[in-house]
Amino acid sequence: MPDKVIPIKNALRATVAAPRYDGGALADTRGRSLRDLRISVTDRCNFRCTYCMPSHVFDADYPFLPHAALLSFEEIARLAAVFVGLGVKKIRLTGGEPLLRKDLPLLVGMLAPLGADLTLTTNGSTLVKHAAALKAAGLNRITVSLDSLDDATFRAMNDADFPVARVLDGIAAAADAGFAPVKINMVLKRGVNDHQIVEAARYWRDSGHILRFIEFMDVGSTNGWRMDDVIPSAQVLRRIGEAFPIEPADANYTGEVAERWRYQDGAGEIGVISSVTQAFCRDCNRLRLSTEGSLYTCLFAQQGHDLKSLLRGGAPDEAIRDAIAAVWRARDDRYSEIRTAETAKQRKVEMSYIGG
Ligand code: SAM
Repeated sequence: MPDKVIPIKNALRATVAAPRYDGGALADTRGRSLRDLRISVTDRCNFRCTYCMPSHVFDADYPFLPHAALLSFEEIARLAAVFVGLGVKKIRLTGGEPLLRKDLPLLVGMLAPLGADLTLTTNGSTLVKHAAALKAAGLNRITVSLDSLDDATFRAMNDADFPVARVLDGIAAAADAGFAPVKINMVLKRGVNDHQIVEAARYWRDSGHILRFIEFMDVGSTNGWRMDDVIPSAQVLRRIGEAFPIEPADANYTGEVAERWRYQDGAGEIGVISSVTQAFCRDCNRLRLSTEGSLYTCLFAQQGHDLKSLLRGGAPDEAIRDAIAAVWRARDDRYSEIRTAETAKQRKVEMSYIGG
């Protein structure tokens, strides 16, 4: 819920007379540089994944943002250019379900010339319709969330009775459109889909796509997270390794979220994202721009910094750039390193709003 946004002027005051950004390397208080930007283009989704947007909370009465509150494509593109000027190398469009935002390929076409690695995370439900247009508009890569290959399990997890076959068709459409490899995200929840780990690995081996297992996280405050429900990545790797020998692979770059492993027989690679059992805050280089233009320095943040007022108040790009730089320089977050059962209960911003 967008109820914890602090105006940017407060953020600036907190940094005590932030200096003008001088074009130098941007580092936060822990020496981390800014590299990735995630942009949530809508807080709505057609799925009600129990671990993300549980249907008893995100129901017909849920106060989703009105259209006027959303950043326009022009506003997003303008901010994205400022972020790239500050060193951002990768932009991920997400949400909510980003493909629910009308004419998303238009936004992709506006962002592509910035030259950042442009990626999208989607539930895949409408990819058959959109994959070719996204490719033509200049999108570089796609990640599709798919928690189970078993239809009954998948329908239960998305809680929208959505069939697995249509997501598989979407992944095929993405590959046909030239997105290769597609990354497949599988969030594991104990007793729900963890019995399908090896089966999923077998299915995606040799497909050219990359399966990534994600530990169930305590994002937001509505998903009923319990440590007992988390399947540690070490267990995932052990189970897969028993079926298909694997070995670690080097990270593509510092701060990469997924730890890479490859099959020793050359059948491709898998990834594990272990935010709970092996916190990777130390290298975290991500900023998040919420659907209505607030800046969040951590996925587990309780407060954002309002950029939209600056944007709509007529501030020039330089002022917006200085404000973003000040927020990054003051950044101190390391939630996953200090997570406890108590912090997990804190009221945090929802992932659908902040961008997954
Ligand atoms: N709707 C898109 C999708 O389904 O991919 C994009 C948004 S979704 C919030 C982004 C990613 O976050 C998905 O891969 C989803 O599975 C993951 N996610 C959501 N809630 C999570 C949680 N509590 N723990 C771990 N991953 C989560």
